[in-house]
Amino acid sequence: MSKSKHILFLPGDGIGPEISNEANKVLLYVSQKHDFDVEVSDRLIGGIAIDEEGSPISDSTIEIAKESDAVFLGGVGGPKWDSLEPANKPEKGLLKIRSELDLFANLRPSMAFPGLEDTSSLKKEVIEGLNILIVRELTGGIYFGTPREIKSDSAFNTMIYSTSEVERIAEVAFKSAMKRGKKLCSVDKANVLEVSEFWRGIVNKVSKKYPEVKLEHMLVDNAAMQLVQNPKQFDVILSSNLFGDILSDISSILSGSIGMLPSASLDLNSKGLFEPVHGTAPDIAGKSIANPLAGILSIAMMFKYTFANETISLDIENAVEKVLKDGFATRDIANEKSKLVSTSEMGDLVIEKLK
Ligand code: NAD
Repeated sequence: MSKSKHILFLPGDGIGPEISNEANKVLLYVSQKHDFDVEVSDRLIGGIAIDEEGSPISDSTIEIAKESDAVFLGGVGGPKWDSLEPANKPEKGLLKIRSELDLFANLRPSMAFPGLEDTSSLKKEVIEGLNILIVRELTGGIYFGTPREIKSDSAFNTMIYSTSEVERIAEVAFKSAMKRGKKLCSVDKANVLEVSEFWRGIVNKVSKKYPEVKLEHMLVDNAAMQLVQNPKQFDVILSSNLFGDILSDISSILSGSIGMLPSASLDLNSKGLFEPVHGTAPDIAGKSIANPLAGILSIAMMFKYTFANETISLDIENAVEKVLKDGFATRDIANEKSKLVSTSEMGDLVIEKLK
């Protein structure tokens, strides 16, 4: 048998531990079912790590994350730590692990789930069958560019990208498109920004390696409009850090509930950190009503991207789909006909469907 894969769980704060529990349960069940050898461990991150270890992520946790094959994160932050200085906040733990693991590629799928079309703010026919993937550059661009300064009467930031930064994220996007509908839309603002003109040129160069992928370029303002007007035209969307931040939040509302959306952040070798798109939902923490499906679908992404195991990934996705088709729902996705279930009941139902 091949060497077992080690997965580090970082449950974090608020609903993070509740979600992580269900993700862990499904991971262990599905691995056993497919004879995929895993071992898991967990460590602290975020507010709870500040309280118990004195920093939002300890050096030893970073070391374990580096040695692990993949990391699952619940979420960090909450009102208890809101008054701390920005440099000491729980979110620093997340930023630190992202940069220490060099997770430059953020992948966020957005899809319409069967039976949940009515929970979206868009018309059913606009989102029915929707399945898009946003590939966002995560460690460069204007959020990290220097120089940056705030003075009394002016302030500025620097949006900068190097050839290698654009090449590596474009590679991730083209490879993802090859595994999907072979369509890629690169988003920029090349009509006014030099950095976007540069970005576009490199994406065009990388595209020569992927002649099967149909590439188009779209200005970010138009892309934002198209995402709500006709989102089904997209397959994979590639964007820089800033534009991707905004577009991925728009795309997250397309599918109805933020409790349904997984994400992956990958390094050059597709090792990654997998986490739900939502935060720690302090308003519902501890009530066993949080939706664990974004977390469970993040495990499906782990199998797809880090372990290149489409079979297990699809098995999880199909099980989730079946649970929803049977009308089971946590409160955030329920309508008057739903069979309302708790966080752990939802995890149990997914396992039931995997059997
Ligand atoms: P949030 O995503 O936590 O919650 C927004 C709304 O969605 C809330 O009403 C919440 O109850 C609901 N919601 C979120 N996840 C849900 C789920 N799984 N099931 C059912 N309902 C769900 O965003 P927020 O309220 O802006 O932030 C709360 C805290 O989370 C803040 O401290 C913020 O900094 C942190 N946060 C962390 C991350 C992260 O760790 N990656 C991301 C975003 C926000």
